Amino acid sequence: MALATLPEFRNEPYADFSQPAVRQAAAGALRQVRSEFGREYLLRIGGEWIATGDPLVSVNPSNPREAVGIHHRATPELANHAVEAAHAYFPQWSRTPAAERVRLLLEAARILRARKMEFDAWLVLEAGKSWPEAEADVSEGIDFCEYYAREMLRLAGPQRVHQLPGEHDEMIYIPLGVGVVIPPWNFPAAILIGMAVASLVAGNTAIVKPSSETPTIAAKFAEVLLEAGFPEGCFTLLTGSGSTVGDVLVEHPKTRFISFTGSRDVGLRINELAARHRPGQIWIKRVIAEMGGKDAIVVDADADLDKAVDGVLASAFGYQGQKCSACSRAIVDAQVYDPFLEKLAAKTKNIKVGASEDFGNYMGPVISETARKTILGYIETGKREGRLIAGGEAAGGEAPPSGGGYFIPPTIVADVEPCARIFQEEIFGPVLAVTKARDFEHALGLANDSQYGLTGAVFSNDADHLRQAQERFHVGNLYFNRKCTGAMVGAHPFGGFNMSGTDSKAGGPDYLLLFLQAKSVAAKVG
Ligand code: NAP
Repeated sequence: MALATLPEFRNEPYADFSQPAVRQAAAGALRQVRSEFGREYLLRIGGEWIATGDPLVSVNPSNPREAVGIHHRATPELANHAVEAAHAYFPQWSRTPAAERVRLLLEAARILRARKMEFDAWLVLEAGKSWPEAEADVSEGIDFCEYYAREMLRLAGPQRVHQLPGEHDEMIYIPLGVGVVIPPWNFPAAILIGMAVASLVAGNTAIVKPSSETPTIAAKFAEVLLEAGFPEGCFTLLTGSGSTVGDVLVEHPKTRFISFTGSRDVGLRINELAARHRPGQIWIKRVIAEMGGKDAIVVDADADLDKAVDGVLASAFGYQGQKCSACSRAIVDAQVYDPFLEKLAAKTKNIKVGASEDFGNYMGPVISETARKTILGYIETGKREGRLIAGGEAAGGEAPPSGGGYFIPPTIVADVEPCARIFQEEIFGPVLAVTKARDFEHALGLANDSQYGLTGAVFSNDADHLRQAQERFHVGNLYFNRKCTGAMVGAHPFGGFNMSGTDSKAGGPDYLLLFLQAKSVAAKVG
């Protein structure tokens, strides 16, 4: 397709998993992916495949006896080598015309689209996503490719500057250098793809260090980039432990920027290490850090309670609450607190938990045994800090299925005070705290009582209250009368305030600028 005729961006449509034909295709993809289980994947540095012999085994969290992929753990020496190799290739890649980089990216989007069901199956089996959650994640990855391709064309074109008499004045955007891309496991397609392709299409060389929980999905995306024709050397796949290679990548004097999404503590560490000048370093490193959340939904006295309950449940328990945007605090006006809780507890009992590949299960496992233990610890804390009304050991709660998967039932703790740990700390699992507010003003105060500021929602029919929320609910992504998860590329540029990160707004018109620097050129004429 000629770039000049590129159609306007539109979000990738979702497959409907209630359709028998779609389910059949999904079953076929599961068989194909399972037939590849246990395969070995190598590191790719400077166009070379490299083995270290130190295995990193990823498992299916619904059934950890199944080894999904066997990867090699990078060493600190290889991390150094990766930065040197990416630095050596940067002059060549940065001089590749933007139109060519965009063409390659659109080709990657085409391949991903063709392999979408297969990618969905990898996400179901390696990340424990339900089919619709996996489909949304992979679709978002395709959206990032399509959106940033168009954005790069815009930024490569003429930029508006004032023309001085007797001069020709221009401003052009040029790439930065070597980028270290460190994604989390919870959007193993969308976030990894988004951060990697933003770096690449802007003309930077990228070292991708995927999460140790989901390295196979990263290796599959590396296949896509190579098949699309991205040249050897512009992209490095460096699997291995963040605690072993992370500091080396961040501290290397030839690293120009770090694009990180993950927990608050790791983000802060990266920010601190990157700020220190190293011998031989000739720039101030740029850090794009997107971190945790403790997202709240406010339910106003005049809200449609059924819609509010559905919005809170989808936001709190979709993908087992393992989204940075997940609702982990429901703040409910005292006038509707009791009926809201009643409806919420009743609907929660209908949520089915079990293996992700089973279409009937709304919730699958949490990502790992470590995560399961941490979340169960918070549930114990929650029982002391409030009143358990669903999950945990609540009477009438569905017993979680066993079979070795890392399952946790949807859990709700009511009557939680703002000083409680489960009100303040990110849990990253299916645990919702519910708190009573005296009135709307109090509810807004409670919603803002957090070190984080990522997403939030308000269910209300009062226009004045919604206006107040727009002004004062301090989050990067605010939603009215809908869930607080499910940001769409292009429509809802995504990123948070305060300890949620640098508000980099992925999927928005400002994002690619973070991967570029502007150069002003003024030529005397006549
Ligand atoms: P994490 O533990 O911080 O890990 C994120 C990435 O950092 C992984 O690739 C990890 O590698 C790597 N890492 C670990 N230690 C490192 C170090 N010292 N230096 C450099 N890299 C290091 O987070 P996670 O558990 O994967 O993800 C969940 C967190 O991400 C939650 O807090 C969630 O809110 C946040 N999140 C935020 C957003 C957003 O847009 N704001 C989106 C999604 C998720 P290993 O896996 O090898 O340890």
